[in-house]
Amino acid sequence: MNFDLHCHSNVSDGALPPAEVARRAARAGVDVWALTDHDQLGGLAQAREAARAEGMRFVDGVEISVTWRGSTIHVVGLRIDPASETLAGALERVRGGRIERARQIARELEEAAGITGAFDGAMRHAEDPTMIARTHFARYLAEAGVVADLREAFRRFLVPGKPGYVPHQWASLTDAVGWILAAGGHAVLAHPGRYGLSAGAMEALLNEFRTAGGEALEVVTGSHSPEQMRMFGALATRHAFAASRGSDFHGPEEGAEFGSLPALDPALRPVWRDWGF
Ligand code: AMP
Ligand code: MN
Ligand code: MN
Ligand code: MN
Repeated sequence: MNFDLHCHSNVSDGALPPAEVARRAARAGVDVWALTDHDQLGGLAQAREAARAEGMRFVDGVEISVTWRGSTIHVVGLRIDPASETLAGALERVRGGRIERARQIARELEEAAGITGAFDGAMRHAEDPTMIARTHFARYLAEAGVVADLREAFRRFLVPGKPGYVPHQWASLTDAVGWILAAGGHAVLAHPGRYGLSAGAMEALLNEFRTAGGEALEVVTGSHSPEQMRMFGALATRHAFAASRGSDFHGPEEGAEFGSLPALDPALRPVWRDWGF
């Protein structure tokens, strides 16, 4: 069975509504699908219904933004209760501050790079203004012809050391994992290869993640090289974490696509092993 347990709709920073994301996943051969919007549960009802119509099994998910030792880390929650008030309330607080941060990003882009109109331009791409994300700015920069694509936007702007990067304090690791567990879910460390952590810092992160109640590492994801998939598979085994698989699809021609991921190494314990699929 083909599991894809990480992707985004326009409820957060994806380009398509949940039902269209579902259609795309189904066409690419996904059997068990999770929608994991950033800090938002608002797309889950629509996604569940669309998944049923497409003949896919659905897993309620979320991807929570975390600040750990000054780095932004993402924690995916799977099989969470979409009606959990603890989780919904916590996510509302995590989302708070995005609009003010977006104003600062726009101010910086104008002052440091002479790029005007970025706040309104990014907002035009955001379905929910409280979820305004760097991805929406990247889409605006591409649309305005400042960059050729999102990759270039995240190389020249919006990242530490480049114009338009505004540090932000997200949730703590312990809180984020705790909310996922309180909502009955399983916590997965998203795309560990993207954080640029040293081996020592990664060990510390994995230990803290385990202590907090984390269960799995996302080993197979759109942004990992084959080498990183091997490396994080080995780390999952050594730390006795389960392993997860998800494209991190955001939109057509925006990087990872459904149906293009390698299978999880059969030597790993899939996070979904005891889910009855
Ligand atoms: P934010 O939560 O506003 O900081 O935005 C983070 C989002 O930006 C991530 O979820 C990704 O979708 C996107 N992103 C960050 N870095 C990159 C990158 N190097 N390439 C493409 N997308 C990126
Ligand atoms: Mn994103
Ligand atoms: Mn992420
Ligand atoms: Mn993601």
